[in-house]
Amino acid sequence: MNTAVLTSEQKLIFEQRERPVLGAGEVLIEVAYCGVCRTDRKAYRQGQRDLRLPRVLGHEFAGTVAEIGAGVDGFVLGERVQVHPGIGCGVCDDCLNGDDQRCVAMKVLGFHLDGGFGRYCVIPSEGVQAGIITKVADHIPLYYAALSEPIACALHMIDHIDILPEDRLLIVGGGVLGCLMAKICQYLEITENILIVEPNEKKRDLCRNLGFRSLPAENAKDIIKEIWPAGADAAIPCCPVNFGMELSLNALKNGGKLGFFSGLTGNDALTNKLINLMHYKELTVTGAYGCGLKDGKKALALLKNGFDLTDLPITFIALANVEDTLKQTDTDHDLITMIDYKKEKKKNDN
Ligand SMILES: [Zn+2]
Ligand SMILES: [Zn+2]
Repeated sequence: MNTAVLTSEQKLIFEQRERPVLGAGEVLIEVAYCGVCRTDRKAYRQGQRDLRLPRVLGHEFAGTVAEIGAGVDGFVLGERVQVHPGIGCGVCDDCLNGDDQRCVAMKVLGFHLDGGFGRYCVIPSEGVQAGIITKVADHIPLYYAALSEPIACALHMIDHIDILPEDRLLIVGGGVLGCLMAKICQYLEITENILIVEPNEKKRDLCRNLGFRSLPAENAKDIIKEIWPAGADAAIPCCPVNFGMELSLNALKNGGKLGFFSGLTGNDALTNKLINLMHYKELTVTGAYGCGLKDGKKALALLKNGFDLTDLPITFIALANVEDTLKQTDTDHDLITMIDYKKEKKKNDN
């Protein structure tokens, strides 16, 4: 079975699909690796705003060019590529300004269109023309190229919030995006003064292995005050729960900067008392949503220039086991899980 199809909430079926026949202007990608992230788990569990069912999920992938449709130039069969999942309309103000992540007509592979939870993925002609297929430098493993999507999301946030080298940066959530955010700040010498608050002990250990100070969630507010009596200059909650926002708003100094990176889930509202802290403290609040095509290219350039991910553990799985990963909870899951299609092939060959 080479394709996993989500047919309804929590119902995943496996199909053996023929290699698709390409139309003019399209490109066929043979997926090598596809990341399974929190958004995929949410889509599986309860649906997602952009999700249209039935759907082949998977928006973090890289592979090789398997076939080139009529009229497409610039690609060679077998070349290694990464696919940016978002296809903007190309004509609205946001797309023309290079902010395609804001495009209301955006189509996303893995949500509106089939993505990387299948061995073959057809890139539609609008996507090919928009430039969502990017060649990957020979020295970058394709599983790191697949990770360029979350790297691009972190970069997009960091590019928008004006962090200075002397700034004290609080990150709430030591999952993959919290870790990537911290690593990028360190690598680009944006700031080294970083604290990561993370409730899960295993992830806290990982943050420490990466060279960052990490704190448990209990009493974090008081402990941060002890470490930084003047408060945090900037805070980025990298988790979808209210706790991240509460802690950030409380820890920020007057005139601090809040990066609103993770959308909040659940029905519990933040209190007015808390929201008013933005007002009383005169905070600068910067929203950042996903990543645009230019962030994707920037992420690949960062990897090309030596941004090192070898200290981030990756769990590689066969496609056949993807449902186990989709069932993992947001608090207790492997940091990075990646479908490796070589595993599948080996199994089929036996
Ligand atoms: Zn993702
Ligand atoms: Zn647009």
